[in-house]
Amino acid sequence: MLKIKINPKKNSHVQKILDLSKEKIDDCMQCGKCSAGCPANAGMDVLPHQVIRLLQIGDVESIKNSKSIWNCAACFTCESRCPRNVSVSKLMEAARQTIVRKQGGDMLNPNFVSKLMEDKKMPQQAVVSGFRKYSK
Ligand code: SF4
Ligand code: SF4
Repeated sequence: MLKIKINPKKNSHVQKILDLSKEKIDDCMQCGKCSAGCPANAGMDVLPHQVIRLLQIGDVESIKNSKSIWNCAACFTCESRCPRNVSVSKLMEAARQTIVRKQGGDMLNPNFVSKLMEDKKMPQQAVVSGFRKYSK
């Protein structure tokens, strides 16, 4: 029988995601309520509860290589349904951040923000997101 040792504290990639999200993945009991309620689950190759499981076993690469983190709408439905108060939404965002930061794409020059706001087609979310990234 295959034995899986769960010890994310020893995996720096998992720890980075836990530090960014402030979530406690050990509280997850794999009930699947997050995945059942996720409005974007049809576009996910790794379902929300599976994301938690992969983190528990230290397999961050499978999460980073999945479509799921980019198809997550950050709607927080998973968080509101979770009986254990675990937010897959925050873990997804943390996983995205680790990729974006590695690419050096999380810096925004404040002088550029005013130009962004002049663009009538610019979604407000994009500007707010830009500010968030700049402030970190
Ligand atoms: S709803 Fe919460 S406890 Fe259930 S699988 Fe999802 S994260 Fe885990
Ligand atoms: S935040 Fe993402 S993972 Fe959670 S329910 Fe919404 S789309 Fe699904």
